[in-house]
Amino acid sequence: MFTTAKTKLFGVFGYPVGHTMSPKLHSMISEKANKDIAYLAFEASPDDFGRKFEAAKELGASGLNITVPHKIRVMDYLDEIDSAAERIGAVNTVLEKDGKWYGFNTDGIGFLKGLEMNRISPEGKNILILGAGGGARAVAYALAEGGAESFSIEARTQEKADSIGKMIEKYTESRYCGLPRDNDAFDIIVNTTPLGMHPHEDKNPMEDFSRVTSDTVCCDLIYSPWETLFLQAAKKRGAKVLNGFAMLVFQGIFAFEHFMGEKLPDSFFSEIYDSFMNEFRK
Ligand code: NAP
Repeated sequence: MFTTAKTKLFGVFGYPVGHTMSPKLHSMISEKANKDIAYLAFEASPDDFGRKFEAAKELGASGLNITVPHKIRVMDYLDEIDSAAERIGAVNTVLEKDGKWYGFNTDGIGFLKGLEMNRISPEGKNILILGAGGGARAVAYALAEGGAESFSIEARTQEKADSIGKMIEKYTESRYCGLPRDNDAFDIIVNTTPLGMHPHEDKNPMEDFSRVTSDTVCCDLIYSPWETLFLQAAKKRGAKVLNGFAMLVFQGIFAFEHFMGEKLPDSFFSEIYDSFMNEFRK
């Protein structure tokens, strides 16, 4: 596809952004959706973020994805923040409309869509989340909105876990149970820590897998390596496992829907998932 005088500019801001998959993903989505856009990666260190973000606005960018480490900071540069993103406390998608900049978070709904595609519903489920950072907040909120019964959170910083618990109990019907206890059973366990990913490939975020059975669903937000030690150990116990690849693809498609201001057909999600998987495996 050629760019034209009408091509709209989109991109991703992060630090570093050398390995981001977003330009490839959004190029694939826009081509399939037949939209005249260009999507670039912009590297901005924490010191440079404000200046570069304002510069992108000045240059007429229509929308941007925001990744590590700017998902919280970007909220200071927006006119309005969607209520879910406000509760999660992080924004990964921003766009311009009528001169105002709006912020959204598509990480959680991207994760949820991945579960849905695998015919897993959070409704009535007891959840254990490992880690309590931005990804954990987004995933916990989406699962709670999806009807999860209860949450336990195991994290090295207890205040962050409790803060997620408070947010869930304030805005949703789900219950927060604090740290997991020995005899607690969980339907869904989600690793949201970077343990299992470079440079922590040899680390497992959970030591005791005795609570994992063939009825448990174990998810990792990591997709490279494709199967972390956590997922390998869960699989050995007969659990159904799901890595972070679906979340990556679907948060991107939901961001694209925000950018375009239109819903894409449901078939689009599985088609892009399959095409991007082929691209990823090359
Ligand atoms: P984050 O906000 O930095 O949170 C990371 C969490 O892991 C925090 O709770 C942190 O604890 C904990 N942690 C970090 N290092 C640890 C260690 N050595 N031992 C134990 N706990 C540790 O990061 P994030 O944005 O949530 O991302 C977390 C993971 O999810 C990353 O692997 C990221 O690539 C992945 N992710 C994937 C997608 C996707 O689309 N698939 C989307 C978002 C994120 P403290 O708070 O105490 O530091």
